[in-house]
Amino acid sequence: MADKQEKPQNIFNFDYTRDGAERPPQEYYEQVKDKFASERDLRLGYRPPGTDNYTSDLSGDLAKYAVDPYGHQVKDREALNDSVEVLFIGGGFSALLTSARLREKGVESIRIVERGADVGGTWYWNRYPGVACDVVAYDYLPLLDETGYVPSRHYAGGQEIYEYCKMIAERFDLYDLAVFGTTVTSTVWDEESETWVVETDQGDTMRARFVVCANGTLSKPRLAKIEGVEQFAGHSFHTSRWDYQYTGSNLENLRDKRVGIIGTGASAVQAIPELGKAAKELHVFQRTPSSIDVRDDWETDPEWAETLEPGWQAARRSRAIEGPRVSDAVKARRAAMSREEKVRRQENANIDAMMRIHNRIDEIVEDPATAESLKPWYMLMCKRPCFHNEYLPTFNRPNVTLVDTEGQGITQINEDGPVFDGVQYELDVLIYATGFEVQQTGIYNQIIGEEGLDLNAKYSDGIRTLLGIHSQGYPNLFIMGGYQAFFAFNLTDVLNSQGEHIAECIDFVRQNDIHSLDCTHQAEEQWVQEVIAHRGKTNRNRDCTPGYYNFEGADNRRQDGNYNGTMKQYLGHMSEIRDNMADHFVFTHR
Ligand code: NDP
Repeated sequence: MADKQEKPQNIFNFDYTRDGAERPPQEYYEQVKDKFASERDLRLGYRPPGTDNYTSDLSGDLAKYAVDPYGHQVKDREALNDSVEVLFIGGGFSALLTSARLREKGVESIRIVERGADVGGTWYWNRYPGVACDVVAYDYLPLLDETGYVPSRHYAGGQEIYEYCKMIAERFDLYDLAVFGTTVTSTVWDEESETWVVETDQGDTMRARFVVCANGTLSKPRLAKIEGVEQFAGHSFHTSRWDYQYTGSNLENLRDKRVGIIGTGASAVQAIPELGKAAKELHVFQRTPSSIDVRDDWETDPEWAETLEPGWQAARRSRAIEGPRVSDAVKARRAAMSREEKVRRQENANIDAMMRIHNRIDEIVEDPATAESLKPWYMLMCKRPCFHNEYLPTFNRPNVTLVDTEGQGITQINEDGPVFDGVQYELDVLIYATGFEVQQTGIYNQIIGEEGLDLNAKYSDGIRTLLGIHSQGYPNLFIMGGYQAFFAFNLTDVLNSQGEHIAECIDFVRQNDIHSLDCTHQAEEQWVQEVIAHRGKTNRNRDCTPGYYNFEGADNRRQDGNYNGTMKQYLGHMSEIRDNMADHFVFTHR
């Protein structure tokens, strides 16, 4: 058992260098790739590449989809007009992690400004039934060494993670200065005082020496643009704003309801089994199926938990960053292969993994047509892979129907519900599992730096940062989880390293009698070139079926998107920069 709990999560567990005796001929793999391409083209034929088929402008008739179901928990307060040392825009893991590191450095004046009624970010908003994290909890939950907490399961549920976020905020005294129910509307650099002036929708004017954009990568709900959305006469909401008042806390009010859900991404995959159990009828409107693998979950073994020595999580993280140990034999086989051969073998191994996922569907789903519809035709990791043991069996329930729109998606809704292929689906409630606007820096606000330059205007010719964290002309401003930073399946690995880096930078400023730090144009340019150099190593982005991982199929500028070097390389750059601060930053003194 203990061995099992020590095992790192490895979703790309294939050794492509070994020649398998029973491998199908290359022709078979080429045929599968042709099918992948035709499924991608089918979708791009229905909707032009890019995010235009979604809207995240949730105003007017759509404003109800953005309303916080827990907003009433925000306490009334007077507008603030004050100063703090460090201000976080957003109160999720980015802010919690970095604040903990800042406390270790002795920083006392820390304010979190958060739209929701509490900390937790994604785990505050996403409380749909079945919500859980697909990353192993011992890796995903940050600061376990510091808090002494051991997650109750291999994969933690949403409620546990949300409670843990609150525990971190208590532990590091982050509630004292935090404000909730508050959206930052503008963040402007005041050249005279060399501080940031932060204004909010609650009439606050706050000054901060340092600002950290900790507003998350997928925080703003989006809806599919569907004709007639506003005409639906039944009840409707987005997965990240689950209406338990309507459904009942255990979905008991759905017993006599006809329920529809649009979308089959990672959120829907977790909610659908619960809806299937509770609703009188459930109609799942699918545009593209997710890949569903086994969820290897279990309760934490208390005996194992007892054995954990201080620093166990940091050690685990280091092992994960090092990656799986590669034997000398495998290294030698890799070295002997041409790049083309490696790509071919990696693609074949990926196809083998996807076909295993197809076989699992055939084994579980009883109706052959439904099973066929649930098969994903793209490479693993074109879309977020999902892990669930109850999702596929849900389609064997008599009250559950899969409406396969074969790549087209729902395009029409009227007062009774969605219409597809001439069939009217009459519903009492329609749930949008249509995801989130993909990370944009300063999603909720305007960031104006030196010489009045708006950060989004600066980025209009392409994103320009150092490490995805600093941008020249925006002194003492730090961006977390954004583009040009490394992206990991376990996002908290990235946030952890960024939090440490930001705390080190702030500490450097405080310890060296410096007032502000701004990266140099040259350092920024070098990073932009580093990002460009690592992109385009494969055609995966171009070849994948559209989704938010590949900008919905749009050709993007080579510097926009994540840093595609390895996590180890990203960390290496970070420490090199910190070892030579004067080469990468300019400082002001007051
Ligand atoms: P996604 O953006 O992944 O999914 C949106 C879904 O809506 C897709 O299935 C999309 O289809 C579908 N869709 C859009 N328009 C239409 C339409 N007109 N008709 C029918 N379907 C439509 O959002 P999620 O909220 O599911 O997930 C977002 C991310 O959040 C995940 O990728 C993951 O990073 C994270 N997450 C992680 C979880 C975990 O750890 N398990 C759980 C939940 C979320 P198409 O694929 O064709 O575009």
